[in-house]
Amino acid sequence: MSELIVAKFGGTSVADFQAMSRCADIVLADNRIRVVVVSASAGVTNQLVAISQHTELTERFSAYTEIERITMAVLQALSHPEAVAAHVEVLLSELRQLIEQAGTVFSVQQKDEILSFGERLSSVLFTQVLAERDAAVACFDSRLVLRTDSHFGKAEPQVDAIRALCQQQIKPLLGSERLVMQGFIGADAQGQTTTLGRGGSDYSAALLGEALDASVVQIWTDVVGIFTTDPRLTEQARCIREISFDEAAEMATFGAKVLHPATLLPAVRQNIRVFVGSSREPEAGGTWIAREVTERPAYRAIALRKSQTLITVKSPAMLHAAGFLTRVFDVLSRHHISVDLVTTSEISVALTLDEAPGSAFDSLTETAIEELRLLGEVKVEHGLSLVAVIGNHLHSSRGITGELFQALEGVNMRMICHGASKHNLCFLVQDADATPVVKQLHQSLFTA
Ligand code: ASP
Ligand code: MG
Repeated sequence: MSELIVAKFGGTSVADFQAMSRCADIVLADNRIRVVVVSASAGVTNQLVAISQHTELTERFSAYTEIERITMAVLQALSHPEAVAAHVEVLLSELRQLIEQAGTVFSVQQKDEILSFGERLSSVLFTQVLAERDAAVACFDSRLVLRTDSHFGKAEPQVDAIRALCQQQIKPLLGSERLVMQGFIGADAQGQTTTLGRGGSDYSAALLGEALDASVVQIWTDVVGIFTTDPRLTEQARCIREISFDEAAEMATFGAKVLHPATLLPAVRQNIRVFVGSSREPEAGGTWIAREVTERPAYRAIALRKSQTLITVKSPAMLHAAGFLTRVFDVLSRHHISVDLVTTSEISVALTLDEAPGSAFDSLTETAIEELRLLGEVKVEHGLSLVAVIGNHLHSSRGITGELFQALEGVNMRMICHGASKHNLCFLVQDADATPVVKQLHQSLFTA
């Protein structure tokens, strides 16, 4: 077997039987696709999160009922539901037991166990969809190979162990059959179930691609690739055919929800090309993300991320300037707070965090803020949006043409970051200004 492709299908792509059948068409059309990674069916992970957060049994069971409904609908649409009915029932009853037996609150470890059921169910069902098309296919438990640390809820993959386990357990199987695996989930060295964080299935696919020396990782979703900006913001947004790793990484970090931000790390390490396309319209093409691209335009895309928190820490003047930033970042690092933008002045540092659920903001506890207060005066501002202009050569003044600054005329910026990367220029505006600013910028930079 020479060339290997890992194909990942997101939640909407495996939302129901019909959607799964479209994915099966894609898989079966290309014999190089040997590993298929699936998300939970759309909505299921949200219901599982609800289960893990509710304290009342009745509320937990109403979320459970929705999962059962989605699952049964796929099962009943199969030609041979009996082939997987028992397996599905084992999973559902295991989930019911977890719900019943737990006390009023679940531990972080139990929460990950609960969240794992979405992918475990969808993978069993999708395996059968493929099997009914006469494909040699098996469902493989990702937890056997996707080794992580024990940071439940957002586990860190252990790349060397993953490679060794994949080479040992998966590689030998791929010649004779395709494997369907679960995205998002893994296990620590003790075999306890972990998850990679919301949206982590993309990351799983890239990690498996890396460990198996894949040439391509395909991310099949419900949009026909990556757009110059979110099409909901302006109808002038258009699909990008090709984008470099560097630019795509900036986009993923700064808002485009198309890819989990860590997805490109394994791809970059192994120089694996990543394709993003729509499982509804595979013929519409998509976006290729690669190390080498034919063109490197100054402006490639504009990303927008709403609901940002801006934290300013101002140190008293007598504090030694040297070491101040170290101490600030030490607090952030101990609380696992990942920062997006940073600017500094003589005695203060301003940084931004994402407020989306499951993001850095969750870690911004009172304790973390109190610890920052020990270093200086702390101000926390909400309701800001981060706009990132992504492209090439943006770090030089030749890159930042008058065009860009002209396009920003009249825009009230709270903070601006420029210079650290040649691939982006970022600024913060009030949430209410964000959409008009993006429209204005897109109009000037992309439709001239
Ligand atoms: N099912 C998980 C989620 O909804 C992981 C994923 O779909 O990527 O976050
Ligand atoms: Mg996703």
